[in-house]
Amino acid sequence: MSEPVIRMSGIKKSYKMGDTTLTVLKGISLTVNEGEFLAILGPSGSGKSTLMNMIGCMDSFDEGEYYLSGQPVHTMNDNKLTDIRNEYIGFIFQKYHLISKYTILRNVMMPLLIRGEDAAEAEVRARERLIQLGMGERMDHKPTELSGGQQQRAAIARALVGNPKLLLADEPTGALDSATGKEVLKLFGELNEKGHTIVMITHDLNVAKSAGRIVRIVDGELFEDA
Ligand code: ADP
Ligand code: MG
Repeated sequence: MSEPVIRMSGIKKSYKMGDTTLTVLKGISLTVNEGEFLAILGPSGSGKSTLMNMIGCMDSFDEGEYYLSGQPVHTMNDNKLTDIRNEYIGFIFQKYHLISKYTILRNVMMPLLIRGEDAAEAEVRARERLIQLGMGERMDHKPTELSGGQQQRAAIARALVGNPKLLLADEPTGALDSATGKEVLKLFGELNEKGHTIVMITHDLNVAKSAGRIVRIVDGELFEDA
């Protein structure tokens, strides 16, 4: 059995506000194996975004251990966190976060260019991913010339282009109408069948149901769904 993609234990995170401390994550333990499609389901204010920031190596935590594909995130400084984030994680956001002045092709090349990879090679790989996701005809368009569903497909191509260990999606259907949202969830299912490991954060049970496994976050604590 290979190393889990995510192995977290006892993760705690508090925010200090004046002289009060708000404990947002109260000792989170979570293991996600390679090839899993997990939904983290919880209401507003339960700590989803905070947990996403921890899983995504975007913020530090106060206590606990986190191994990302065996790499000890809890021991890393900011530079190392940036490196591991770029190499191991593909992010998908509710509002796509595409750069509006760039073409779709250029947007999808960006993660590779940021890593310092050769531009010609980056272009070849970005084109392949866009074609794979049915966006071959649209790559020379700017993001605003595309529908929401097309923009999210482009964002998924961008997340995949560097062959990350983990796809981390935050409310990926939150800005889409329900039919388009279903298409995006179907695409996640297909990617998972091809072996991609996916963690999707959502407040919507119907969205969560498209994952193979659901955990609930309630007031900063995780509970496995039966
Ligand atoms: P969710 O994404 O599930 O809505 P969040 O993780 O955004 O929940 O927030 C959980 C709790 O932590 C909320 O009470 C929120 O106000 C608080 N919180 C989040 N980020 C900060 C911060 N940077 N400073 C202080 N409190 C925060
Ligand atoms: Mg949130």
